[in-house]
Amino acid sequence: MSFSSRVFDLHLRHPFQIARREAMRVRPIVLLEANGGVGEASPSSYYGDTVETVLAALEAFRPVIEENPPIEVAVRRMNELLPRHPSAKAAVDVALHDALGKRAGLPLYALLGLDKNGTPLTSFTIGIDRLEVIAEKIAEAAAYPVLKIKLGTPRDEEILKTVRAATDKVIRVDANAGWTREEALRWVKRLADCNVEFVEQPLPPDDLEGLRLVKEASPLPIFADESCVTSADIPRLVGCVDGINIKLMKCGGLREAWKMIHAARTFDLKVMLGCMVESSVAITAAAHLSPTVDYADLDGNLLITNDPYEGATVEAGKLVLPDRPGLGVVKREKR
Ligand code: MG
Repeated sequence: MSFSSRVFDLHLRHPFQIARREAMRVRPIVLLEANGGVGEASPSSYYGDTVETVLAALEAFRPVIEENPPIEVAVRRMNELLPRHPSAKAAVDVALHDALGKRAGLPLYALLGLDKNGTPLTSFTIGIDRLEVIAEKIAEAAAYPVLKIKLGTPRDEEILKTVRAATDKVIRVDANAGWTREEALRWVKRLADCNVEFVEQPLPPDDLEGLRLVKEASPLPIFADESCVTSADIPRLVGCVDGINIKLMKCGGLREAWKMIHAARTFDLKVMLGCMVESSVAITAAAHLSPTVDYADLDGNLLITNDPYEGATVEAGKLVLPDRPGLGVVKREKR
């Protein structure tokens, strides 16, 4: 059995900023090769991960990987060894799925019994920036029919005006927990006339009662992102939101994401698959699950200039899955 990991710096096309933190220019990820499969951790400090914690967790998981048990067992063993560390677990989970697909000679979507033609459109994210740069980013995003706009700032009104002056496309709004209850109640009504599809995480993650109040008052659907980390969070969100945003790097991999999709369906919640800034390895892994969800926001690899792999692509906004076995990702030549 094989195991190797390396740190790789993803370079952002534009510095990427959201409500709660400074702009990011470089995103270090950890690429994992395990048992013939490739995986990726894109560590988010918001969920307690750094490159250092990923590398340490992967070392702790090494004996599990070397035993090469069924994926279900590997995931259970990792959870027994260490709580948290979702992006390191996602790297292992994705690599084992890739390896399984390669052994079976099947693309991951086929292994999961999914229809590759059923992939959704993905949104393209416009981060917080100076107004003239926001207008430039919207022009650069001409190929994408749906945009995701980051709000939750003191400049929301001017950002929205800039966006709406630049495009009449459908937009999704993500406040990244940046509003108070009063602001959120005002904004959901304000956005209802602006060709907005839904509003993501208007309030801080723990304010479920606030989310319930906003959902009840909102003409637009409300999605939970920071409030919904794993499947364990879903039951208490029922009645508080209309849908959830699932990310491999916060839930711990495809196995848990799949569980979250089924749990959400049980409670009649809509499902979006989202991402961090990630390479085509993690984006392609999530894309293979995307025929089962309502919305995708799988654009992390579109925001970088030095993607180390190629995999899922986007045509007229729609995710296109590779037909090669496993994830179907291929290493790019060094540039
Ligand atoms: Mg979000």
